[in-house]
Amino acid sequence: MDIAIIGGGAAAVGLLDALAATGGTHGGGTGTITVFEPSPRLWRGRAYGPDLDSVLVNAPPVIMSIRDGDFDHYAAWLGERGADHTDEFLGRPLVPRALYGEYLVHSAEKAVAALGEQGWRVRVVTARVTEVVRSGAGLVLRTDDVHDDARQGAYEHAATHVVLCVGGGAPPDLYALTGCSGFTADPYPLADTLASVPPGADVAVIGSGLTAVDVVVSLAARGHTGGIALLSRSGVLPHVWQRPIARPPQHVTVDRVARLHRDGGNVALDDLVGLLRTELGDAGEDFDVFATELLATVTDDPVERLRRQLAAVADPRIGRRVLQETMHTVGPYAWRLLSESDRARLRRHLRTAVSVASPMIPRNATVLMRQLDSGRLTLVPGVRAIVPAKGSFRIRHDGGERGADFIVNAVNPPPQAVPEAARCLLRSLTATGLSALHPAGGLTPLDPRVHVVGDLIAGGPAITASIPALAAQAARTARALLRTSPHPASLR
Ligand SMILES: Cc1cc2nc3c(=O)[nH]c(=O)nc-3n(C[C@H](O)[C@H](O)[C@H](O)COP(=O)(O)OP(=O)(O)OC[C@H]3O[C@@H](n4cnc5c(N)ncnc54)[C@H](O)[C@@H]3O)c2cc1C
Repeated sequence: MDIAIIGGGAAAVGLLDALAATGGTHGGGTGTITVFEPSPRLWRGRAYGPDLDSVLVNAPPVIMSIRDGDFDHYAAWLGERGADHTDEFLGRPLVPRALYGEYLVHSAEKAVAALGEQGWRVRVVTARVTEVVRSGAGLVLRTDDVHDDARQGAYEHAATHVVLCVGGGAPPDLYALTGCSGFTADPYPLADTLASVPPGADVAVIGSGLTAVDVVVSLAARGHTGGIALLSRSGVLPHVWQRPIARPPQHVTVDRVARLHRDGGNVALDDLVGLLRTELGDAGEDFDVFATELLATVTDDPVERLRRQLAAVADPRIGRRVLQETMHTVGPYAWRLLSESDRARLRRHLRTAVSVASPMIPRNATVLMRQLDSGRLTLVPGVRAIVPAKGSFRIRHDGGERGADFIVNAVNPPPQAVPEAARCLLRSLTATGLSALHPAGGLTPLDPRVHVVGDLIAGGPAITASIPALAAQAARTARALLRTSPHPASLR
């Protein structure tokens, strides 16, 4: 079989690792694996390339393992080095994302070596895939110009199976500011984009999620003395991580949801709420108090909530921890079983869901708190318009108007957004009927030879896939690939 992996970020690393693990036990033949990645950030992808030391991973080691089911894989690689990066609040190492990128590179190289020993031929082509089309019983990939020692120019590659690992989108330019001097359309790497911002400048960051937090923390680390404004519609900040505790959920589990599905034929949102209520009840916690606090995410004063949550990092109550964890572990499975009306009910709470599912690390929360208390950082909700004005910017919001010298775009891409680099590729997949665009976003493969790993998977919850979610998807895909015969009879 000839597997083509399009995109060489964390999802591809998880897939290679899972193929190496599954391939060793799989009795079938081997073949070739070709990874297509145009950028210089091979295996690191968009998130884990070289950057400032202030750009940290957003989660403790137990949920940063790229190997499905092996929660210690990353911590074991990190070893003693972790001690230099311990977050004093969480009591766990939180390293610069560039260092985590080294782990991905190491994991990919080990997987490639293991696959080589099993008889696979693995190689990387430095090019963007622009098209996938049918060709007899197989598939053909076309690229734009290849830049490597072996070949130059556009290139065609035959494959029996294709896996899209193309990641998610980049921040959308909501205020049409691209091309304006002083506007940064995509903030990463912050080492480059913040380099031209003078320390005393007034900076406005569009967005108030984790990317905006990275920008504020990195400006602070560079000794920024000017004002920083976080501009958003809602003004909601991510919640703050709590210290992990060893109490795996007993009720909000995939098994329990599967049983509900088996017994009742469907799963309702109220059933899931019931599981959470029981989970909290067993721990002696009041579900209604928890739910009220949670729903106040969009109405509370965000600065006061940040202060409260920083003080509650070690709070032993499990409510937020269970919800945060199970949104990534149980959520994608349960989401597919819900009715459309229940999904619509949940979508109305998307801002709260994202804040809980992807909390900020306490170290970053303390930096934000200090900046807010000093008056250097302000939250500006209700933003209506941002317009360029004689070399700077005017911002209109519900409370009035203000100026900024520099604008950094930190808007979250919409869920299941298509990355710019994959647009023509997706057009070809849909035009040839190999896949279809889902009305709610993302791509649905219509042909068993096409697979997707990562945020582009259609039909999932609108929450960015965390590393363990990618690893689980990659493991499922590896099993599906190695189960499939190279030329399924039905496709000949
Ligand atoms: C800034 C940021 C920080 C994050 N931090 C964390 C964290 O701390 N913890 C956590 O659990 N999760 C985190 N996440 C979420 C998740 O871990 C990352 O999104 C993850 O790296 C996604 O990996 P990926 O391989 O799916 O996508 P990407 O890393 O985006 O990789 C996709 C690759 O596909 C390539 N590509 C695209 N189109 C084509 C094409 N047509 N042909 C060939 N190649 C193509 C791109 O060049 C890119 O390198 C973060 C996400 C972001 C954006």
